[in-house]
This record gives sequence, C-alpha cells and structure tokens, in this order.
Amino acid sequence: MKAPAIPDTATLDRFARIVGERYALRDEADMQPYLVEPREKYFGKAAMVLRPGSVEEISRIMALANETRTAIVPQGGNTGLVGAQIPFERGDEIVLSLGRLNRIVKVDAEGNAMTVEAGCTLAAIREAADAADRLFPLSMGSEGSCQIGGNIATNAGGVAVLAHGPARDQVLGLQVVLADGRVWDGLRALRKDNTGYDLKQLFIGSEGTLGVITAAVLKLQPKPRARETAFVGVASPEAAIRLLHRALDQFGRGVTSFELMSRLGLDFVLRHLPGSRDPLQGSWPWYVLLETSSGDEAQTLRPRVEALLADAMAAGEAEDAALAASAAQANALWRMRASLSEVQKQEGGSIKHDVSVPIAAIPVFMKEAAKLVEEIVPGARLVPFGHLGDGNIHYNISQPVGADKKAFLARWEEVSAAVHGLVARLGGSISAEHGIGRMKKDLLAGVKSAVEMEMMRAIKRTLDPNGILNPGKVLQR
Ligand SMILES: Cc1cc2nc3c(=O)[nH]c(=O)nc-3n(C[C@H](O)[C@H](O)[C@H](O)COP(=O)(O)OP(=O)(O)OC[C@H]3O[C@@H](n4cnc5c(N)ncnc54)[C@H](O)[C@@H]3O)c2cc1C
Repeated sequence: MKAPAIPDTATLDRFARIVGERYALRDEADMQPYLVEPREKYFGKAAMVLRPGSVEEISRIMALANETRTAIVPQGGNTGLVGAQIPFERGDEIVLSLGRLNRIVKVDAEGNAMTVEAGCTLAAIREAADAADRLFPLSMGSEGSCQIGGNIATNAGGVAVLAHGPARDQVLGLQVVLADGRVWDGLRALRKDNTGYDLKQLFIGSEGTLGVITAAVLKLQPKPRARETAFVGVASPEAAIRLLHRALDQFGRGVTSFELMSRLGLDFVLRHLPGSRDPLQGSWPWYVLLETSSGDEAQTLRPRVEALLADAMAAGEAEDAALAASAAQANALWRMRASLSEVQKQEGGSIKHDVSVPIAAIPVFMKEAAKLVEEIVPGARLVPFGHLGDGNIHYNISQPVGADKKAFLARWEEVSAAVHGLVARLGGSISAEHGIGRMKKDLLAGVKSAVEMEMMRAIKRTLDPNGILNPGKVLQR
C-alpha cells in the first residue's frame, strides 16, 4: 500500500470549500485541541482540521481524499487512550472531527431503539434515553466528552459490560461513509437479520481505519426502577471474586457493575479529589464498587443487597460495606471511581495497561505482575483498578515517590513487555477495551496468528484500497 500524498494548498482549498472556511481549521492554535490526547502521550500535527456538518459533506470529503490520496483521521470526542484519533507528527493528515453531527434523530421507546448521529456525546444519548423512560446502558468516565461514533469505532466497554456487553452489543444498525465517499445506509432497527454478512460488525472496533461512522441505531433497555450502590472493603482479589460469584448467583444480570480498586487508589482519591471522604471506617487492601439494578418497583432490592453483604461478611468475602443511602451518595461513590485516572496524574508519571485475563486468573495476575514490576522499577506504586466483573484490569503503575518522571516513563516499554508477557501466559488480552491504535500496533502481530493478520489486512485493502483512512493505526502501513 502506497503512503498517502502530502496535500498542497490547492488541495486543502478544495477540502475547505466543502465545509466552508469557518469549519476548515488551518491555524496552529485553532487545531491544537484536536492534536493532543488525554494522556498527553502523543502530540500530532495536521495539515487541516475539518468539521463537516452533514453526511453529504463527509461523503464529498472522502471522495476528494480518495482522489488526492490524502490521509484522513476520524475524530470523535478525542478521549481515546491509544492515540488512534491523533494524526502522526508529519503534518500531512487531515483530522475529520464529527462533533457537529450531534442530533438525536429519533427515540423509539416502543421499539426500544434510538437513531443518533455519530457526534452525539454518550452523556446526551443516555439522557435522551432516560427522558423516554429507557436505559442506554453504555457508561464510562469520559461520557461527557466521548461521542457515540468514537464509542462504536473503539467498541468501548465501560462500567456496565457485565450486564449489557460492550458497544458492539448496543448497535442495531450503522450508517458509514466509505473510503471512496460512498454512503452505506445500514440504519436498520432489526433484532434479527441473517441476510448475509453482518457488515456493521466490521466497522465496530475498527478505530477509524475502515470507514467514517456517521449515524447509528442503538438498542435501548428497560429503565431500572431500583438501584443500589455499595462500597465494600475486601481482603484480596480472591475474596472479591467470591463476592462477585455470590452476587451473580443471587442477582444474575441484576449485577450491573462490579469494579475493583486498591487501597492506594483510594488514598490517591482522598488526597486529590475535592470533597471525597473514605466511605468506610477501617482500611482494607482492596475495595469493590458493586451496583445492582432491578426492574421491580417495590422496595425489595435494598433488603436483598443488605442480606447479600451480611452473608458475604459472614463468609469472609467482605470485611465491611457501606450502602449508599441516596442517589447523591451513590453518585459520590461513582465520582471516586471515575476520578482514578485523573488523581493518578497528580502523583507524577504513570505507566498504564488495559488488560484482561480469565476472571479466575486475576489473583495470580495481580501477584505475579507486582513481582515483575518491583524487579524492574523498585518502589513503583501499583494502582490497579477496573472492571473486575469482566476480567478487565487497568494495571496502572505510578512512579516511586520522589522519582524522576521522565526517567520513570522511559521504562514504559520494558514494564509493559513484562506485564503483557504475563497476560499472554494467562491466556488474556493486551487490549481489553481501549483498542490498538498507535500505542499497541507493534504488538498486534505478536498476539494474533498469521491467518488473523492476513484476514485483517485483506479487509483493510478491500474497504480502503488507497490506505487513506487513519493509516498506520491498528495495522502497519
Ligand atoms: C476518563 C476516561 C475514562 C475512560 N473510560 C473508559 C472505559 O471505561 N471504557 C472504555 O472502553 N474506554 C474508556 N475511555 C476511553 C475512551 O473514552 C473510549 O475509547 C471512547 O470510546 C472514545 O470515544 P471518542 O469519541 O472520544 O473517540 P476518539 O478518541 O475521538 O477516537 C477514538 C477512535 O475512534 C475513531 N473514531 C472516532 N469517531 C469516529 C467515527 N465517527 N467514525 C469512525 N471512526 C471514529 C478514531 O479515529 C479513533 O481511532 C476512557 C477515557 C477517559 C479519558
């Protein structure tokens, strides 16, 4: 596949005419917010940032990009954590920002479906569903900024995967602009449709490398009538897993979240999150944020959760627990969980991993990973947290107290190689929910078979023969 061409001024003028000068950013300062990502790990350059306002404009942009061999980097809310939405440093790519396509087109409460444009924020979609007395279950710390197009393009996970699955499970239909500008209208709201290949699945999780998602039909769920949120101190990951199984046995899919954090993570929160306070009297090595939901109007959920926690304490699975007494208290607990990445920033450099292993292997993973990290960076502070119910741990490591941030971050590859090696030995994944993007593309061939890599390359060649869609992300050029 040939490298895309560097667009000259005349070509850039042609792109600008499609959206109008106002929405074609060329000034360095105007482009800046689109060129840095949340971890401040990648700082890109772009020839231009385009902010189209319609599918038709996107179609014309892609047709022109295909004709002129110009590389296009689709971007949603720019909250991605693997650098996939950021152009490379050469400055020859165009960022295609979807933010202006932000209409909730239709909420069909009867059909449990909603049609939305790709640039709607996840929070706006959840609110629109809620207003129609329905639940859109996808939820994550970035939901105020991330967009549904980005969620679908990354097959995002979040805190409700345990009960509802990742983004892939919430999509009924898609509209996609292909690399040559053709528009595929697959906005169907069908639960069952076995007419040939399920094409939408190709674009879900493709990280902007196969097409530009412009709209989606999403699946809605009944809105829970009762919700209980508990903060539980536990002695070990083993105990947390036993608690998980007890909860699943009793509540099944009523267990909507099961999140783990370490004491050190809680200490960071208490130190840096204004207004936070320790929900429990004692101090425990690990904590679980457990959320259960029920469609039952009657107030039966709370006593059932209280009984669950009492039984878990009697069985040595839980040490102590606080059950939120109000929605405000539940929100405060969730705010602590959501702040974990942010508070870690205040503690200096951090090396991060987004891994999954079979749930039963989590205790071994935690023990072995801690040993490996200590050997490489003695004194490094372990702040693992995440979606225990999905076997997905954000294995984050903060620099030792007083260490040099740059020197610590320089060990990233070495530390990751050790952690990822362990993950592979345990039959896990090096990217549970954030994707491959730029950060992990060199690792992909090491975790996929030759046949898998060839199938992926064949799909890329077919849908994007000129290699203009987010080139160099996920797959090597
Ligand atoms: C505080 C915080 C918490 C987070 N928590 C979670 C979590 O719990 N679970 C999780 O999975 N992720 C999480 N993330 C990561 C991130 O929010 C998700 O990956 C999210 O889905 C990205 O959406 P976005 O709109 O910001 O996409 P961007 O970051 O803009 O883009 C991500 C990728 O999608 C592509 N893309 C974006 N829009 C489109 C489109 N319309 N068509 C085609 N391609 C497109 C881009 O090219 C890029 O490859 C978190 C991030 C932060 C900062």
